[in-house]
Amino acid sequence: MGGVGAQAACRGLSASGRPGRAGRVQTARMPHLHPRAAAQESVFARMSRLAAQRGAVNLGQGFPSAAPPEFLLGAARGALGRFDQYAPPAGLPALRDALGADLGVDGADVTVTCGATEALHLLTLALAGPGDEVLMLEPVFDVYLPQVALAGARGVTVPMTLDPARGWQFDLGALAAAVTPRTRALLLNSPFNPTGTVFTDAELAGIVALARQHDLWIVSDEVYDELYFGPRPTSLRSLAPERTFTVGSAGKRLEATGWRVGWIVAPPGQTPGVLGLRQVTSFSAPAPLQAAVAAALPAARESGFYAGLRETYGARMTRLAAGLRALGATVFEPRGTYFLTALHPTWTAEGLIDSGVAVIPGEAFYAQHAAPAGLTRWAFCKSDADLDVALARLSQADQTVRL
Ligand code: GLN
Repeated sequence: MGGVGAQAACRGLSASGRPGRAGRVQTARMPHLHPRAAAQESVFARMSRLAAQRGAVNLGQGFPSAAPPEFLLGAARGALGRFDQYAPPAGLPALRDALGADLGVDGADVTVTCGATEALHLLTLALAGPGDEVLMLEPVFDVYLPQVALAGARGVTVPMTLDPARGWQFDLGALAAAVTPRTRALLLNSPFNPTGTVFTDAELAGIVALARQHDLWIVSDEVYDELYFGPRPTSLRSLAPERTFTVGSAGKRLEATGWRVGWIVAPPGQTPGVLGLRQVTSFSAPAPLQAAVAAALPAARESGFYAGLRETYGARMTRLAAGLRALGATVFEPRGTYFLTALHPTWTAEGLIDSGVAVIPGEAFYAQHAAPAGLTRWAFCKSDADLDVALARLSQADQTVRL
């Protein structure tokens, strides 16, 4: 079966007892990492790394170019030296209360997490296991399927369709047809990354009816709840409070994605189950940043911060969309999120980064169905200067190719 020499060579160790090419000391045998550790680098991390290495404008990973607001930064400075030890696993009481007030829920139903990513991970672990299925839409945010797999369950995606004239279409009938006796939960995202879809109240009512008919949990990823360009998105929690877990993000709301402060709002009575898992994942989120977010949430409401973001980002979306259309792309303007999607027959993420602009390839959001050809996702939570430089580089590349 290959023998020690072959196994050692596979891991960069020589068979002769000397350090191999990797420079590590040889041992006769080494244990294997579990196959689940073979996961690839996240597309978002990869595109940010390539953008930095290649000097490309980063319109890939969704984080803002602007600094967070001073009311958040000042609160964090004031919290250092005062909130430096473990917070309770459920979160600092002040933050649970602030979230309760902001979201119109009981603070006792809130669990603070290390970003929305941990929130989603905890919920998958809490709701599904071997033999269970979790139903979601495709294109799909990159962590949903791997998280379901880590829980030992099976993620099943239902494709949305992309009609160049009508944009992204969601089919409730197709979702209903994919429900099986094994389905335990619907995992949804509204506003929806990457399509920018905001589900209408009629669509949400249909989703809730489906969940009630089959007794399913609903996990509603609402991290872009304050980033919308049409009617305010309705939270699924308000329609089905008994079965909906919502997920939110201070990083997305307050322009501080590196802080890793997210939250879960659980149906009444379900928080202890989430907390039991939460204390063995990261135990608690960073205490001083929780204190800062607790102070910033009311300040953001009172100062009209979210309305300002919508105005700024709405203008940037229009600017980027117009620039991409002028370059021949078909652009799908989002109703929410800070991403737009575009189709262009010759654009690929590799080709665009060669032209000095990093974006996310459409295929990154597809695992079980084929991605529409020529699909890319563009983040417009970047400065006007970034957007202008990106468009100028693309225009120059376009002319070079034509010449
Ligand atoms: N939500 C961000 C995006 O879609 C990235 C999140 C991440 O990098 N994990 O760009």
